[in-house]
Amino acid sequence: MGFKNLHQDAFVLDSHCDTPLVLMEGADLGKRLRKGHFDFNRMKEGGLDAVFFAIYTSGKLDPDAATRRALQLISRTYDAVEANPDKVALASCAEEALENKKKGLGSIFLGMENGAPIQKDLSLLRLFYDMGVRYMTLSHAVNNEICDSCAPKEERWNGLSPFGREVVKEMNRLGMLVDVSHISDKSFYDVLECSKRAVVATHSCCRAIADHPRNLTDQMIMDLANNGGVIQVNFYPPFLNSSYAEKFWPLCDAFDNIQEKFRKNPVKYREEFRKVEKEMLALPRPSYTEVIDHIDHIVKLVGVRHVGIGSDYDGIEVTPEGLEGVDKLPVITKELKRRGYTEEEIRLILGENFLRLL
Ligand SMILES: [Zn+2]
Repeated sequence: MGFKNLHQDAFVLDSHCDTPLVLMEGADLGKRLRKGHFDFNRMKEGGLDAVFFAIYTSGKLDPDAATRRALQLISRTYDAVEANPDKVALASCAEEALENKKKGLGSIFLGMENGAPIQKDLSLLRLFYDMGVRYMTLSHAVNNEICDSCAPKEERWNGLSPFGREVVKEMNRLGMLVDVSHISDKSFYDVLECSKRAVVATHSCCRAIADHPRNLTDQMIMDLANNGGVIQVNFYPPFLNSSYAEKFWPLCDAFDNIQEKFRKNPVKYREEFRKVEKEMLALPRPSYTEVIDHIDHIVKLVGVRHVGIGSDYDGIEVTPEGLEGVDKLPVITKELKRRGYTEEEIRLILGENFLRLL
């Protein structure tokens, strides 16, 4: 089978897209959007059968604001799906997603990025599950009530908190996947010890290739796989390539800084914002083949049954060269084929591995 047919035929799943953020800005995903990385038309063009929309809340929000924000993001996602019944449908399990593919529809799953919206209340966790949330990334870039994040210098709990242990137990009971992306190494090991089910890293790369605390060490990859879990490789260029990251981070900091000012006062800061953005985007980006380098690395460590893709589209400022949006996904199949992966192996990587855990 040629790579195009194989890509179309395979079940392709992306475990992490921040597109609900775009919905909050009022975007219509039924139209072909010129900005951002994702819309329902490009999803179809890219042969993407299922995507997890990240219900992301910033660690800076107070608890009630985080809960409200999560509810708004879920509601906007429902609206967008309902407005496009000819293109997509919601899904909450593997069977529904496979059924949707048969009908020619893309599946939209919900994943929650940062457990802050459940506050310190397991009943909220249950309600989010009932609304369709099928994984929860325990933290984002701030230590929360559940566990320590990999980002801050100071630890709060030295891993999972006592409440976090209850959360993992309840997630196991409900059948909500525990996502270890973003959490600290100590939290990661506490989760592995505490969870009775396989856990996932929905958007993480390999630290052996690109040294960053957001990426997983070889030992972590082996331990996660040993537990039956799956690592979904992130497309974010600074997580793929260390020498790119070195040049990128200072430009990205400057960009975040001016973006905040620009949002408050667009007239005054427009010109400076455009200039900084242009500089950041001008940096030569790693090729899409480097995504496959991370996949290869994981396959060499733990075999082909523990890896997939979690693009982080619409949550990243830059993309790899050749993977500028969801419509470009077939290049992954092309490159896997070129490197000698069998059809069966490619199907596992593109989606079946993650589907197995749902
Ligand atoms: Zn993330």
